[in-house]
Amino acid sequence: MTNRVCMVCGNDFEDESRFKPRQYCSDNCSDFSKFKEAFEKTILLIEPTPEAKKLIRGDMFRFANILSKSTNTIGAQNVSN
Ligand SMILES: [Zn+2]
Repeated sequence: MTNRVCMVCGNDFEDESRFKPRQYCSDNCSDFSKFKEAFEKTILLIEPTPEAKKLIRGDMFRFANILSKSTNTIGAQNVSN
């Protein structure tokens, strides 16, 4: 067993895997990393209109705010600025 630091949340965790060392403490942190990578990849491939860009930026701003507010905003309505 090895003590590791999660690459997403920064918390310590016990790595009990014998073969491939784990980088994340949980499935949630692993998913976050996966989705972030997919997001980064696809955002470069889409060609949003100026109006759609505004909505995407709004979403990203909302994501950032989730961290500071720590409220569950799943299902929240898209509010235009
Ligand atoms: Zn974690």
